[in-house]
Amino acid sequence: MSDERKNILVVGGGISGMTAAVEAAEAGAEVVLVEKNPYLGGRVTSLNQYFPKLCPPQCGLEINFRRIKNNPKISFHTLTEVESITGGPGNYQVTVLVNPRYVNDNCTACGKCGDACEAEIPNQLNYGMDKVKAAYLPHAMAFPFKYVLAPEIIGTADAQKCAQACVYKAIDLEMQPAKITYDVGAIIWATGWDPYEVEKVDYLGLGKIPNVLTSLMFERLAAHNGPSGGKILRPSDGREVKSIAFVQCAGSRDENHLAYCSGICCLASLKQATYIREKVPESRAHIYYIDVRAMGKYEDFYTRVDQDENIILTKSKIARISEDPESGGILVEGEDIGKGAKIKQVVDMVVLAVGMVPGTAKVKPELEMECDDFGFATAPGTSGIIPAGCVKAPMEVAASVQDATAAALKAIHGTMGR
Ligand SMILES: Cc1cc2nc3c(=O)[nH]c(=O)nc-3n(C[C@H](O)[C@H](O)[C@H](O)COP(=O)(O)OP(=O)(O)OC[C@H]3O[C@@H](n4cnc5c(N)ncnc54)[C@H](O)[C@@H]3O)c2cc1C
Ligand code: SF4
Ligand code: SF4
Repeated sequence: MSDERKNILVVGGGISGMTAAVEAAEAGAEVVLVEKNPYLGGRVTSLNQYFPKLCPPQCGLEINFRRIKNNPKISFHTLTEVESITGGPGNYQVTVLVNPRYVNDNCTACGKCGDACEAEIPNQLNYGMDKVKAAYLPHAMAFPFKYVLAPEIIGTADAQKCAQACVYKAIDLEMQPAKITYDVGAIIWATGWDPYEVEKVDYLGLGKIPNVLTSLMFERLAAHNGPSGGKILRPSDGREVKSIAFVQCAGSRDENHLAYCSGICCLASLKQATYIREKVPESRAHIYYIDVRAMGKYEDFYTRVDQDENIILTKSKIARISEDPESGGILVEGEDIGKGAKIKQVVDMVVLAVGMVPGTAKVKPELEMECDDFGFATAPGTSGIIPAGCVKAPMEVAASVQDATAAALKAIHGTMGR
């Protein structure tokens, strides 16, 4: 247990938390950032491309990693969560629990421990679609660029083999969890979002039909560092996908699940339709939507994607997704609202546009922060605990960056004189 004094503590190292941390530090604040994953970057790390420009997300992330690395005013902890917060605006005491990585800063990411390790664990980055060794680098561009040992192998012969394989003495099997209490003036809460557990929407078939995936799994399938090296293949038999159905509002806008619109999933599916069209020229993509929500400047992106005659947008309500034994494909059934006709479309793969659930629906500060009925954070203006990014509302990256910058300004105000 140790105590440290900083101006601002940021919780969550996604694009919102990283932006808030660098903006505050570049304005002169001493900032500490805590992230529960073994790497920074949040959900954006697992995207294949960003809409609307369709550039790789690593471009945006790398700039922030560099700003963090080069700024002595920012320190960060991975594998870390907040245990308790006491105090009030201008004077909070935040105790964080730093879990062991079992790998120290000597790590060169040479990979020898991974070669020596026999145990495998589900690959978290790929939403469990494949496995990684239990001594692993989270991904090729990970920041920090250091291996991690999964806690599951600690105390086993595998862990010993990893330690023996490391010539840099980077593996420390005796590492213990550590508690640190930070004395800070303000806290930025940027714990982002989680996908809705769409298995709960029974008729959509997730978890029962192997070729029904979530939109997040599909991002990984299309990514060059994903489970199939960027080839869009059916999990059931490895066959190339030639037809695909994107089913919108999966869990969202449904009073039995998420009663709100998740805001960005229309744009995400429009973007994902371009992945399959580019990778498999003879492919067809069907997008089944209730409304297309591509607000403001994103209308142009929608119009561009809609020009492709092999991307077929249908205003509809999908009622059933099932396996089609005759063709080995998936049968999508519902109603075409425009034509007033039944839909019966067989495709190779279905992608569900999952809803976004705020991180604050699961874990939120006990002090000061309030949430609406859906769990989105609504802290009062007088609070020194400031929500940022998708904990407030579903947001795309550009809006998250803007919101995080505003949160940094608010946090700086009233904390810098400390
Ligand atoms: C399928 C899909 C595709 C998308 N594609 C695009 C796109 O092309 N372009 C675009 O602009 N946007 C896209 N988005 C939206 C984008 O993912 C979000 O805008 C972005 O993730 C918001 O960043 P964030 O930092 O607020 O949240 P997150 O990315 O969720 O980051 C939150 C971070 O906080 C950490 N955390 C959570 N809880 C805790 C805790 N208790 N303690 C410590 N750390 C914690 C998490 O591990 C994570 O690192 C897409 C979304 C989906 C669903
Ligand atoms: S922990 Fe050691 S063996 Fe493993 S990647 Fe790092 S330096 Fe290499
Ligand atoms: S953004 Fe589109 S797919 Fe997502 S919930 Fe709203 S209308 Fe449905």
